[in-house]
Amino acid sequence: MKRLLPLAVACLALLPGVALAAPPPKAAPKPAAKLPVDLIVLAGGVLTMDPNRPKLSETAIVISEGRIVELASPSEAALRYEAKETIDRKGSVVMPGLVNTHGHAAMTLMRGIADDKPLMEWLQTRIFPVEKQFVSPEFVKTGTQLACLEMIRGGTTTFTDMYYYESSVAEAVDASGMRGVLGETWLDFPAPGHANLEESIKVTREFLQRWKGHQRITPAVAPHAPYTCSKETYLAAKALADEFKVPLLTHLSETREEQRIVKEKYGMTPTKWLESIGVLGPNVLGAHGVWLDEADMAALAAHHVGISHNPESNMKLASGVAPVVATRKAGVVVGLGTDGVAGSNNDLDMFEAMDFAGKLAKVTTMDPTVLKAGELLRMATVDGAKALGLDETIGSLVSGKDADLIAVEVAEPRARPIYDIESALVYAIKASDVSLTMVRGKVLFDGRSWKTLEPMPIVKKSYEFREAIQKFLAANGSSAPAGASTSGARPPATPKPK
Ligand SMILES: [Zn+2]
Repeated sequence: MKRLLPLAVACLALLPGVALAAPPPKAAPKPAAKLPVDLIVLAGGVLTMDPNRPKLSETAIVISEGRIVELASPSEAALRYEAKETIDRKGSVVMPGLVNTHGHAAMTLMRGIADDKPLMEWLQTRIFPVEKQFVSPEFVKTGTQLACLEMIRGGTTTFTDMYYYESSVAEAVDASGMRGVLGETWLDFPAPGHANLEESIKVTREFLQRWKGHQRITPAVAPHAPYTCSKETYLAAKALADEFKVPLLTHLSETREEQRIVKEKYGMTPTKWLESIGVLGPNVLGAHGVWLDEADMAALAAHHVGISHNPESNMKLASGVAPVVATRKAGVVVGLGTDGVAGSNNDLDMFEAMDFAGKLAKVTTMDPTVLKAGELLRMATVDGAKALGLDETIGSLVSGKDADLIAVEVAEPRARPIYDIESALVYAIKASDVSLTMVRGKVLFDGRSWKTLEPMPIVKKSYEFREAIQKFLAANGSSAPAGASTSGARPPATPKPK
């Protein structure tokens, strides 16, 4: 420029009517002060789940105080922000953390305890006796920690729980850094921690008082199901949930047997019965919804009830095929879930949940165009968040929402070449490809190790419970699963360095 300037000035001087004047002295431009922020994540590509900016190429996700400040180009971000830390995932796709809308986390301690059995036999010969004997605050803490290890590793940032001693579950979730919607489960028969309705109300009230307002934990009330809870139980649960403005979680229309029992007792479907007693509302999340009919779907849509679809559980327990396409078409928000791992899945892998949900819907409707990859990703993120009433906080990567996000490596041969990132994420990528898991801007897994949990003591403790459970089952005329080893704890497979 220095060389060109005199020539330009000379040319201008030759033009008629243009007076040659010395240019005014210019003040040196002052660099704008950079805004201090906590963190910048550099992503090779971003799937935002924001309909206005669905897919972005190389992007800097600017994060401060646990929230997303902005999604900008890396060069813009470098000009405007001074980050305390930068995480480089330029070789990865960044997307919102996955939202698991139904499960029983502590049942990881009973993973595979009884497979390939009818639901009632599974419950009565294994699950109920073991739960009665073993479920304690320590049991749920260890089981939840094991579940958190698995979910964090696989890119799940929010999960929903229906179990017992939920204050202990909440303590484990709090320490893990994850986000949870945690429901104290009520039954019309004695449950661990509370023997009757009066005690259930008391214990749950204390739980809600303790955890309501926590940044990552949403306490909830969870009457188990219309075939295990009376009208009185549901109305008390509804009153408590409304008083504290928290979710009400329940199983709903899971099996044909449930449908039969409820119809015989009340002369209507489980959904219509819950509607008739005034339980349905926007804070209600029903798990499964396998046996819904058109009138049920219309009622759920009218009351803004969310549904959790658990394809692997429904397939493994032969519960049936949830009419997900019709349910969504009726206007019901449907999220995805895994259910518990004791015999109904048996893992907490939300990538599998997307894959199975898509393929199950396609083969049963004989229509490969239903539940496209993009819709399955929505169900596992923003729709799941909406079904849980958390969509203003999480579910998509937009300014102002909490920084709950994951990075997914796309370097493995199984993901290559990529024509469509949504297709790759749903049908080819595995949970083991997750290389970063973050909740509220805090790294929980960095592709090499867990940052908030120590895996070895948790796994060791799980084997101690396994030994005790196995002895108990043997003493009570039920043996451990064939081929099971009695050896002690082994470290979890170390994720390969990314
Ligand atoms: Zn369940």
